[in-house]
Amino acid sequence: MAARPAPYLEGLNAAQRAAVETLDGPVLMLAGAGTGKTRALTTRIAHLLIQGKAWPGQILAVTFTNKAAREMKDRIGRLLGETVEGMPWLGTFHSISVKILRRHAELIGNGELHLKPSFTILDTDDQIRLLKQLIKAENLDEKRWPARQLAHLIDGWKNRCLTPGRLPKGEEAAFDGWGGRLYQAYQDRLLTLNAVDFGDLLMHCVTLFQAHPDILKGWQDRFRYILVDEYQDTNVAQYMWLRLLAQAHKNICCVGDDDQSIYGWRGAEVGNILRFEKDFPGAQVIRLEQNYRSTPEILAAASGLIAANSGRLGKTLWTDAEAGEKLRLIGHWDSEAEARWIGEEIEAFQGGHRAALGPVSLNDMAILVRASHQMRAFEDRFMTIGLPYRVIGGPRFYERQEIRDAMAYFRLVVSPDDDLAFERIVNTPKRGLGDKAIQTIQTVARQNGVGLLEGARIVVEDKHLGGKGLANLRDFVNGVGRWHVDATDDAISHVELAERILDESGYIAMYLKPPPDGWDEDRDGEWPAIAKDVEAEGRLENLKELVKALEDFDNLQGFLEHVALVMDRDSDESGEQVSIMTLHGAKGLEFPVVFLPGWEDGLFPNQRAMDENGTKGLEEERRLAYVGITRAERLATITFAGNRRLYGQWQSSMPSRFIDELPEQHVEVLTPPGLYGGGYGAAMAHAGGNPAAQMQDRAARADVYNSPGWKRMQARAAERKTAMPRTGVTIDADPAAGFKVGDRVNHAKFGDGQVMGIAEDTLTVQFDAGFKNIKASYVRPAGD
Ligand code: ATP
Ligand code: MG
Repeated sequence: MAARPAPYLEGLNAAQRAAVETLDGPVLMLAGAGTGKTRALTTRIAHLLIQGKAWPGQILAVTFTNKAAREMKDRIGRLLGETVEGMPWLGTFHSISVKILRRHAELIGNGELHLKPSFTILDTDDQIRLLKQLIKAENLDEKRWPARQLAHLIDGWKNRCLTPGRLPKGEEAAFDGWGGRLYQAYQDRLLTLNAVDFGDLLMHCVTLFQAHPDILKGWQDRFRYILVDEYQDTNVAQYMWLRLLAQAHKNICCVGDDDQSIYGWRGAEVGNILRFEKDFPGAQVIRLEQNYRSTPEILAAASGLIAANSGRLGKTLWTDAEAGEKLRLIGHWDSEAEARWIGEEIEAFQGGHRAALGPVSLNDMAILVRASHQMRAFEDRFMTIGLPYRVIGGPRFYERQEIRDAMAYFRLVVSPDDDLAFERIVNTPKRGLGDKAIQTIQTVARQNGVGLLEGARIVVEDKHLGGKGLANLRDFVNGVGRWHVDATDDAISHVELAERILDESGYIAMYLKPPPDGWDEDRDGEWPAIAKDVEAEGRLENLKELVKALEDFDNLQGFLEHVALVMDRDSDESGEQVSIMTLHGAKGLEFPVVFLPGWEDGLFPNQRAMDENGTKGLEEERRLAYVGITRAERLATITFAGNRRLYGQWQSSMPSRFIDELPEQHVEVLTPPGLYGGGYGAAMAHAGGNPAAQMQDRAARADVYNSPGWKRMQARAAERKTAMPRTGVTIDADPAAGFKVGDRVNHAKFGDGQVMGIAEDTLTVQFDAGFKNIKASYVRPAGD
């Protein structure tokens, strides 16, 4: 009788076990979504360690995101228990390259200059700024030679490991003749700054390995086993990097799915999969076919869609999971209605109103968008209804340091009692107020029973401090007092006031080059405002953006409320959050319930992808749709809107052509709420009673409802007689639960407050903590 497999191997199917146990020589695991590629890869690492084939330090595992690396580490930790000490090198191509480069930085250079191990890594913004400077330095017109385009060009070269000296003939002349020369200038400039950009991380490693065989050999000897997840998305540079490292021992295991290749626009080459067998002769190719993630319906819908792509390697996928729900499809009037509906659905699922699913934790639900600008509608809506969410991989503008600092100034100006704001900025910029000075202010404030700003005023008046600190504190206290008066004065707009605050407080100056000693404005003229460095320039631009954002609000107070709501991440008692992320960011992840909004032609498939890359672009978009659907374990819902605001303009849109490609028998079409009750009125209310806007909206609406896609959808809906309520939620006759403006209410967290406004089921309540928009059902009458 065969021995029982080790516990960590139990439960794997035969193909997975082969992938885990074939340790020596090249292995390519080629399989569809959810077939357990990542799981097999992780188990393989554990197996290598448990079998004593390698020490942790001899294993190199490459994942696509840092998050995936962390998850893999956790998994391995659990599989291993206490048996092995240390961890393999596990991370993204970039993070591993950084580690390698820091050890050999000095070997990267141009003969005169070389990197130092402390090099900094520029982000895209820094990169663009630097390129702008170089373009300007050549006296080129920025409009004709846009830095972004150059950045794209250079990234492309770096993805192919082409240093300035290695550009193929003809390519240097790109960018209207300036490409090669500006690329060289950029690389030189980076060296002077002791900096690298993202593309350099890989390219420098490869050039290092190529130029220094001894160093390469050291790393080859070290990493005896190499594993790569999401192999279909490697670019040429990454491929070269891997090949160099694995060429000696050839113990390399790559897993991937050609149908999930979604980074072609960043230089990824599906062709790498095909080349694998050529570069590593004798490679074992293992195919996994059983999907463990999704219901048969989800799988069938995804497979039906991707079948429209040509040139696929082709894979069989099956599941023995129980039948589930069909993929759901629904259209909405606009992106706000879409966000509103999804918000309601999420709440219904959470509350267990969908019996088939049972209560679903917010952590188990995700909204996957094509473009990050789609996130705003969801963030705004979820904020309004108090639905906790997290944006994964998105820009968290309001959490940046300089934005928080500036906001603290605004808060203190609006509410002089805001002690947290006071503490944050009293010594930012440096005013020579150390811990002791702050303590004095705190003590005085406590003794007098006043806030810190008022405490500081007393400290200044009674001269509890000495020296420069006292003078600076006086300026600060006086400044805040002055701005506070300005804030209540109509003579100056809040936007102007914001600029004034940031300027007069010395905050902006913190990021500027100071004038040299002895500079006399009267004699020498005004000292020009130049950012201290690239980082400071970025911060200054963010501050500008902040001031611009203020224009959308009537006053500082209104803006602060808005931001407080955006930032109010802890309003959730259970700690659960819905995830919002891009489709690209969702690769490799899985969620029981997935929403896929914005399936409209132009948005998804993305117009630019199609314009720039034709059929190739369209096929990549389709793979992205495949990735999206296959993230779902139990229920996937596709939605689209008839109108969407793109770049400040309302546009009517057509349902995505991908919708037509879904196999009908696996799709349930839900009734768009816009066609039944409430929708039209809501839409008009949305247009804000502005007749012109109403006309425009009506026209747009007619357009959409006349579109072939919409008609088809309606026809399908009629056929299936699916015009029925979608969820078990009963609509309250009075969504505001009987509250009126002026009522006193109580909230578990914010305490007592007063209703200042009502919009549908949402109350705007003034609590001690400030204004909050809260669902009527979350509060009760005060004193109850
Ligand atoms: P993707 O292509 O989306 O990255 P994948 O092929 O990497 O998917 P995994 O994420 O490894 O798939 O696995 C999908 C799900 O199936 C996970 O929840 C995993 O735990 C589960 N799974 C994998 N193999 C098995 C198995 N043999 N038995 C039960 N569940 C499994
Ligand atoms: Mg995976």
